[in-house]
Amino acid sequence: MLKIYSDFLFNEFGEIEKNAGILISESGEIVGILKEGQFNTKDFFYYPGLLTPGFVNAHCHLELSHMKGKVDTGTGLIPFLKSVVSFRNVDQNIIDEAIIKADQEMFLNGIVAVGDISNKTDTIAVKSKSKIQYYNFIEFFDFMEDNMTDQFFEQYHSVYETFGTLRKSMVPHASYSVSKKLFKKIIASNSGLVVSIHNQEIIDEDELFNTFGGKFPEFFRSFGFLFSTFEPLGKSAIHYAIQQMVSSLNTLFVHNTFSSKNDFTAALEWNQNSFFVTCPNANLYIENRLPNYEMWKSFSKNICIGTDSLCSNWSLDILSEIRTILKYKSYLDLKEILSWATINGARALRLDDALGSITIGKNPGINWIQDVKFQESLQLGENAKVKKLV
Ligand SMILES: [Zn+2]
Repeated sequence: MLKIYSDFLFNEFGEIEKNAGILISESGEIVGILKEGQFNTKDFFYYPGLLTPGFVNAHCHLELSHMKGKVDTGTGLIPFLKSVVSFRNVDQNIIDEAIIKADQEMFLNGIVAVGDISNKTDTIAVKSKSKIQYYNFIEFFDFMEDNMTDQFFEQYHSVYETFGTLRKSMVPHASYSVSKKLFKKIIASNSGLVVSIHNQEIIDEDELFNTFGGKFPEFFRSFGFLFSTFEPLGKSAIHYAIQQMVSSLNTLFVHNTFSSKNDFTAALEWNQNSFFVTCPNANLYIENRLPNYEMWKSFSKNICIGTDSLCSNWSLDILSEIRTILKYKSYLDLKEILSWATINGARALRLDDALGSITIGKNPGINWIQDVKFQESLQLGENAKVKKLV
């Protein structure tokens, strides 16, 4: 039995509790939570700072880990995608080693679960043995080309099959890259209960669906894809997605940098298990801008945090994402963002029966964050860093 206490505990009610103790079994299960004064501190290990449950990384692409530092920052999404596509024929050993390292990096940074996008089978070996729980989103796209839908579907369906008994779901890549025909095929074959889609990462997505404007038509034409059967919707991109998708599944909308309050409301009216994932460091890396979190605040129960991949981030570290949000949007409170980073992600991935909060009976992992300070509310210090305890 491990007995620990700290100055601050992010408790299961989303509050910061002072001087609480935790009893943890050898298997990592929470067996007791004690308030200040209910236990003798001499019998408990003291960790100065803050204790939180393990973090949930709601959006990553583990298979792109070898691309770390390869793509320029601040170029905007379309040049970024062009650059990513140009990296082919990388030595398999380099890819495999980068995946092993990235999985370890996330584990050491206190991440206990990951919603991970896969277009290939490269990550299966690591995920089969990892201490992290992965929800594998096998991603499909057909560049809106009806005559290529079947061919692309078969390609990614075979990846899906190869994932075998690992936790998995078939998901569309983004509104701008998936035809209605492909959406239908995905829905007909998917057996997962959680899905994800990249959403409104750049303004051009809305321009495409509103008026057939923006840079996407030209971008796709440069690859020989002509958008020949595309009909604009007269609405923003998220409306196309929710018209095609199934409202009974947990649905993670990823990025949402350009989403409006009406977009979020429409998604929640369609499906109350809609979750909005933010990847702040990736937004800074690619577009050098952040979403309007002031608007997001009123949707706080449905917000999660992701790192995106090492192709568009400097590290796979949820605390670093939290720090970025607080640095640029200081009106947000640490405890609110901790909910985004823990219980909300666990709920989104349907892993909250065991993860996401320090609750008796759960096995959530325990993170120790050093260098915090209390000034009206709890804040991260300059040198705040995370260490995985359990
Ligand atoms: Zn992504």
